[in-house]
Amino acid sequence: MPTALYPGTFDPITFGHIDIAVRASQIFKKVIAVVAANPVKNPMFSVDERVEMVKDSLSHVPNIGVISHSGLIVNCLREYKATALIRGLRAVSDIDYEFQMAFTNRNLLGSAETIFLMPSAEYTYLNSSLVRQIAHYGEDVSSFVPQFVQKMLMDKLSSQ
Ligand code: ADP
Repeated sequence: MPTALYPGTFDPITFGHIDIAVRASQIFKKVIAVVAANPVKNPMFSVDERVEMVKDSLSHVPNIGVISHSGLIVNCLREYKATALIRGLRAVSDIDYEFQMAFTNRNLLGSAETIFLMPSAEYTYLNSSLVRQIAHYGEDVSSFVPQFVQKMLMDKLSSQ
């Protein structure tokens, strides 16, 4: 299988995202993590900061690239001649939103297939907003994010 895109906000990247990206890299020849500008979500980190964190966190996997993108992901699929979108599924609560996205993308581009992967059980309840909240209250997030991301969180919070 050639190239897949793994789109997300990654605000910030967690061990859950990393788990999914690594699984995808074992199925596809090339995986590109696509960091969405996503101003609607009003992210804590700038798109450049998020790209930097994703790059650092996935640098040990040779067939994963990282880019940023604003706009529709189907345009990115066309540009990179990618055949699939990777999304992570945690709990049933993810399904409604993910189905909506997958069907919308397929309506926009008939060849756009979404492939859902499940993380290791320990990351099932992990998400970026939880990490931001825990870090905000000064608690240790080392079991949720890599060291570099932890530092970026501490720097960001101390500069606010
Ligand atoms: P988005 O704003 O596009 O949902 P996220 O960065 O929140 O961006 O998530 C990107 C993708 O990674 C989504 O498919 C999401 O379900 C998945 N994901 C996030 N955290 C985890 C996790 N702990 N385990 C598995 N998948 C995850």
